Parts: sequence; structure tokens; C-alpha cells
Amino acid sequence: MNAAVLPPVAVVGGGLAGSLAALALAHRGFAVSLLAPPAAAEEREPSELGTATALSYGALAGPASWQAWRDLETVHGPLGLRAATLLRHGDPWLDRLPPGLQAWPSRLLGFGRVDPAALLGALPAALAAAGVQRQSAVVRALEPRHPGWRLCLDAATGPATLETARVVLAAGAGSRALWPDLPEQLRVSWAGVLTLPRVPPGPWPAHAGRGRVVQPFHWQRPLLEGRALSLQSEDWIVDAGLAPRDEGLVVGQVTVVRPGTASGPPPDPATMEERLRDGLRRLDPALGALAGTYRQVPVAFCVGGEPLVGPIAGAAGLWAFTGFSAAFSRVPIRAVDLAAWMAAEAEAG
Ligand SMILES: Cc1cc2nc3c(=O)[nH]c(=O)nc-3n(C[C@H](O)[C@H](O)[C@H](O)COP(=O)(O)OP(=O)(O)OC[C@H]3O[C@@H](n4cnc5c(N)ncnc54)[C@H](O)[C@@H]3O)c2cc1C
Repeated sequence: MNAAVLPPVAVVGGGLAGSLAALALAHRGFAVSLLAPPAAAEEREPSELGTATALSYGALAGPASWQAWRDLETVHGPLGLRAATLLRHGDPWLDRLPPGLQAWPSRLLGFGRVDPAALLGALPAALAAAGVQRQSAVVRALEPRHPGWRLCLDAATGPATLETARVVLAAGAGSRALWPDLPEQLRVSWAGVLTLPRVPPGPWPAHAGRGRVVQPFHWQRPLLEGRALSLQSEDWIVDAGLAPRDEGLVVGQVTVVRPGTASGPPPDPATMEERLRDGLRRLDPALGALAGTYRQVPVAFCVGGEPLVGPIAGAAGLWAFTGFSAAFSRVPIRAVDLAAWMAAEAEAG
């Protein structure tokens, strides 16, 4: 898009936010390095290096987000965008209709889905084609150099440090460990799901097996996140839902939010799984007994719902891109905004 080569930028984090920020910045003409742990480290638990993107339903709502993904696929090739409909249980009106009709309004509202496995599978080639230098590394520290930044890396191969003019912190739940002075509204929840390699029998799995995303009409997670600033002790909820995942399903989700800004140690997986299964049983007893593998990840969010996008106060050259709600809908659009903002700032000198 921009023929001029702008200053080097290092993006920390290879989930949805970091990857789409890197693509947008490269498209603007920045020389971009993307630093993310190898996939094996992201999948290892317990860890702030887990990626919420991998366990997501990938649902997106609204014509603007659908169009943003279409635009991305036009430039970068297939990234997992799928037509999908939303089926909400507990809806006082739609519950009276047959499922085929229930799903219909979501088509009008531009509902869709990005398959996280397809996205994460396609990203390495898309990033390489866009000129992004991807390095498998955990960033252990960010050091201001006045001007610029030095990143201290933990990497099996390659250099142990990286000097760069600007840094974008898109490390999800790992962001605060790198820059503790982030705004207080940035928090971390822990989310747990069951993953199933195949679609089991039963009416709800069959919906998800046909590409529908099943979600509750009354979401509890946003209410719990909204109470994060006043929590005195940890609290949890279950939002029973299902979505397609590869040839199988992801069935969730149990969410724990704690007081304070630290993600803390991962919650006890056995307790979390039992809570999840109890919540699923309330939708359908058969769901509580599904033979799936329990997995959990930390998820960054912002109290109030407005993500951190922009320069970080008191840290020249350090930018934030994290804490999204409705991330699959908002990240593609805000990544373009971020890149435009950083280009304008760089060009202004
Ligand atoms: C079960 C579930 C269902 C969901 N469903 C939806 C949905 O339907 N629609 C929707 O929009 N959102 C959904 N979400 C939320 C959405 O998935 C997340 O908000 C989004 O994926 C976050 O992306 P991210 O890139 O900010 O964070 P992540 O995906 O967590 O990525 C952070 C990255 O930073 C890396 N990192 C951390 N620390 C370091 C470090 N020191 N050095 C280098 N790298 C580091 C991590 O390894 C990881 O790669 C769901 C989440 C869950 C758990």
C-alpha cells in the first residue's frame, strides 16, 4: 500500500491481535518482526503463553467485520472465513421457532465465523508473503533505549536481543508481565472448554456439526467481566455453547475472573471441568457427559469493553493492541486503524 519503508516495528504475540496487527503494519510499509513462542510452547499448560485464539469459537457479528475479513482474504488468501449462523438457546422468542428459522435472523445481521485452526494454519504463509519476519521467541523483557527499544528474547535459534524503533504489545494475557504499567482496566480471565475430535450424536452437537455456532441468549461472561474491578474473591460462570472445530467441536465455556490485574496460576483443571460439565448439563444432560478433552487458556479483556489500542503513556514508541471483546469482529478493523495511526505518527517525525 505504502511504498515508503517506515521504521522497524516489533510485534509481540502471535495470536489474532498480533498477527493481524503485523499484517496491517507490513501493508502500510513498516518493516515488521513478529515475536511469538513456538506453537508447542503455546499449547503447553499452565502458561500465560497459551493463545486464546486457538480455543475460540471465532464468531463474528455484523457486516463490517465480515467485510473486513473478506478484504483480508482478498489480499492474503484464505484465512478461515466461513458462512455460519448463530443459534441462541434461552431466547424467549426464538426458542418457539424450529432451528432452521431460529438461525435465519443471524444471516440478515451478517453473522459469520473464522475457523481458528484454519486461521492459525494459514497465518505463517500469509505473514511471510507480506514480508513479516516471524521469529519463534518468548520476549522476556522490554528495555527502553531512548530512542527505540531492546527486546530480550528466549529463543532456541536466532539472536538473543532485538533492537527496534517501535514495539506493539499484542501478547494477550502475557502483556502485563512485559509492561506492568498498563491501565488497570486490562484484566485476565481463565476460560475452559471441551474439545472433541469428532461430532458426537445429539441435537446440539448436530447443530454445531452443520456449521452453526450455539450460544446462550443471556451471556454471563460480560457481566462477570464488568464486575472485575469490585471483585473481592474469584468468581466463575458457565456460558453453555458449541462451535465447529476442525472435524469436531469446541464446547464451552467456563470462565473464572479474579480480583486484581494478575492472571495468577491457572485454576484447578478438575474443578473447572466439573463446573463446565454441570453448566452444560443444564442445557442438555447429554452434553455434561461428552467425552471431550478439557483445555483452558488465559484471556485478556478490558473492563468496560474498550480495548487498549494506541501509544502507551510514558513509554515513547511502545504501543498496545490487546484486551479485545468480540475480538474476531473488532481486531481486523482496529488493526488497520492502528497501522494508520502509527504511520501518521512516524511520518510526522
Ligand atoms: C472458548 C472461547 C471462545 C471464544 N469465542 C469467541 C468468539 O466467538 N468470538 C470472538 O470474537 N472472540 C471469542 N473469544 C475471545 C477471543 O478468542 C480472544 O479475545 C482473542 O483470540 C484474543 O486474541 P489475542 O491475540 O489478543 O490473544 P491470544 O490469542 O491469547 O494471543 C496472545 C499471544 O501472545 C503470546 N505471548 C504471550 N506472552 C508472550 C511473550 N512474553 N513473548 C512472546 N509472545 C507472547 C502468546 O503465546 C500468544 O501467541 C473466545 C475465547 C475463548 C477462550
